[in-house]
This record gives sequence, C-alpha cells and structure tokens, in this order.
Amino acid sequence: MYYGYGMYYDPTIILVIIGAIISGIASLNVRFTYNKYSKIRSYRGTTSNQVAEHILHAAGIYDVRIERIRGNLTDHYSPNEKVLRLSDAVYGKTSVAAIGVAAHECGHAIQHSEGYAPLKMRAASVPLANIGSWISWPVIIIGLALGSTPVAQIGVFLFTFVVVFQLITLPVEFDASARALRILDQDHILEGEEHRGATKVLKAAALTYVAALFTTILQLLRLVLIVSGGRRRD
Ligand SMILES: [Zn+2]
Repeated sequence: MYYGYGMYYDPTIILVIIGAIISGIASLNVRFTYNKYSKIRSYRGTTSNQVAEHILHAAGIYDVRIERIRGNLTDHYSPNEKVLRLSDAVYGKTSVAAIGVAAHECGHAIQHSEGYAPLKMRAASVPLANIGSWISWPVIIIGLALGSTPVAQIGVFLFTFVVVFQLITLPVEFDASARALRILDQDHILEGEEHRGATKVLKAAALTYVAALFTTILQLLRLVLIVSGGRRRD
C-alpha cells in the first residue's frame, strides 16, 4: 500500500506504537510509585545500606561491596564484580522505597551465591540476545531485498533470542523481589504499611519487565507480519 507522496505506509508500525505506550505507562508508574514511597521514612530509621548489609550478612555473604551509582533507578547487582550498586535516590536513604529496592538487589546477590538456575540461564543468554537484537533487522532487510524468504526468516528467528532473554528475566526479577519482601517481613525490617509500600514499589518495578517482554513480543509479531507480507508479494 502506498500512502501520501509515494511514502510506503507500514501498518505494522501500530504494534511498535502500542508497545511504546505500554512501556511508557509502566515506566511512569514505577517512577510515580517510587516517588510516593520515597517520602515515607521507615519507622526504625535504618538506611538502605544498613538493611543491605544486614541481609547479605544474614545470608552468609561477606564479599559483596555496596557502591553508589548515579542516575534514577539504575540500581543493580553485578555478579561478575560482586558489587551491589544503589542509585542516588536509594543509597543511604531511610525511605520504605529505598529499603525495598536495596533488599531486591540483595535478592539478586543471594540468587548468585546460591547458584539460582534462572539467573545462570539469564547470564548465558545475554550474548545471544545481543546478537539477536543487533543483526535480526539487517538480516531481514537483506532477505526481503534479495526476495529470499528463508534469509528473512533467519532474521526473525534471531529476534526470538531477545524474547527468550526477557522471558527468563521474569522469574529472576520476581524471585529477587519475593526473597526481599520475605526477609524484610521475617526480620521485622519493614512492618505493616511500610511493608505494603515496599511491595507496591517492587511490584511496579516488576511490571516494567512484563511490559518490556510484551513490547518485544509485539515487535516479533511485527517482524513475522513483515516477512510473511514480503512472501505474498513474491
Ligand atoms: Zn532486579
């Protein structure tokens, strides 16, 4: 279909737009929820760093360093370096939100020390996912340009690595939050309303991973439609 001044109109772009909207909503939601609970100071007044140290030590982990990292929601645990990085809004803060995020990152450190299988699978799938996201489009375009459906289909197949990676990310993230919330409750670090607040923050964060998976599936669907459309024109 041609649209306007000879510009090719690709109706599958709607899938990309839907994905962008869903990801945008998830990202706004986590920022809104974090802001809300970053204003609620934990009753005990313990800092996120103290909580993180407590959780790591209770799990028998003494070789993980805690560092500060710039940015917003850039918190992560680096298994290779054994470093737990907390962002400006989390590091040393006493809010319910900061403690929840720090505990979640400790959840990843505990997964690593226990050899949690999905975490290993996720790490192993990173190179494949990178290859998939970088070369799937060029391969598809070359396939369509050559009029070769098999080549284009290889491109689509490569993109499925990205979907698989994001699928494996879900149990890793859900489990880290479940561990965090269990420890915060059991060790009476956050109680009652505080614990519910941390739960909301971590749920909002988990939803961004679900949104990312959904967005990637929509992109995969788009590639399938483009490649099968290309075949019909042959
Ligand atoms: Zn995480």
